[in-house]
Amino acid sequence: MVSQLSEKAAVSEKATGERAVTVIGLGPMGQAMAGAYLDAGYEVTVWNRTAAKADALVARGAHRAATPGAALAANELVVLSLTDHDALYAILDPVADALAGRVLVNLSSDTPERAREAAAWAAGHGAEYLTGGVQCPPSGIGAAGSSTFYSGPKEVFEAHAAALKVLTGADYRGTDPGLAALYYQIQMDMFWTAMLSYLHATAITAANGITAQEFLPYAQSTMASLPDFLAFYAPRIDAGTHDGDVDKLAMGVASVEHVLHTAESSGVGTALPAAVLDVFRRGMERGHGGDSFTSLLEVFHEG
Ligand code: NDP
Repeated sequence: MVSQLSEKAAVSEKATGERAVTVIGLGPMGQAMAGAYLDAGYEVTVWNRTAAKADALVARGAHRAATPGAALAANELVVLSLTDHDALYAILDPVADALAGRVLVNLSSDTPERAREAAAWAAGHGAEYLTGGVQCPPSGIGAAGSSTFYSGPKEVFEAHAAALKVLTGADYRGTDPGLAALYYQIQMDMFWTAMLSYLHATAITAANGITAQEFLPYAQSTMASLPDFLAFYAPRIDAGTHDGDVDKLAMGVASVEHVLHTAESSGVGTALPAAVLDVFRRGMERGHGGDSFTSLLEVFHEG
């Protein structure tokens, strides 16, 4: 009993301490996060399903919690870095009674809807909840210039902003817990599609005896030109203007066909340009041949 009481007192002292945090999930991201907190002088408690991933952090001074319940009990602020929300429930549902009074900062990727569900689930167990979407690789954690989207109760975000900024800059998007996940996923939508386009072009260059290193300045130059296109099109999209004064969808179709045929004659798979061409052709079928390619938004909105 005495030891239980003193354990509770110790926990409560740590829980109110300003520079103490629990990190659950020690993939590359969680390891970088726990490391950044150690570097910043925080008391860090860690838990991971595969316990060995905590070894290096423990050697640097982190406390290894024996169970998820102990990890929750150690600190008020609990940062979660997991593959998805299924992992969150797998770990925390069995110890949900220990959630009351905790502040969960979930930096695990998942959909906006699942973020809202998780916030409601946490609230049902008496915990505060912030959603986060990290916009950098593990090497960006603790580095200048990195940023994370956050959403959830503003007062909770503000109360813990200093601790969150140990990891990256903090971009608060609003009270809806789904917002940070939404902003994160739209960035990922662009990132994966753009990076796959890079890989596809690289496959064509390789098939033609050009190395990735030789292609690099040209690939970079193409990517660097995109912000100007976005700045040009964004106000026209908001205004609902899709005039074909600068680009016509019919020209775009011919261009994508040339890309597809170049891939084909290089012996490279055409699944990616074929998918692009399909969207362009659906726009043509809707009579947008003389409009800008931004008229393809109609195709996307129709699902
Ligand atoms: P990993 O998938 O490598 O690691 C995820 C963690 O989740 C591990 O600790 C793993 O445990 C745990 N986990 C997964 N499933 C379960 C489960 N069923 N039960 C218990 N634990 C589970 O991811 P990262 O560390 O790379 O990334 C973490 C999050 O950050 C992801 O949501 C990712 O999308 C996001 N992110 C990652 C970036 C990156 O570059 N890595 C960039 C930006 C965001 P175990 O070690 O036991 O397998």
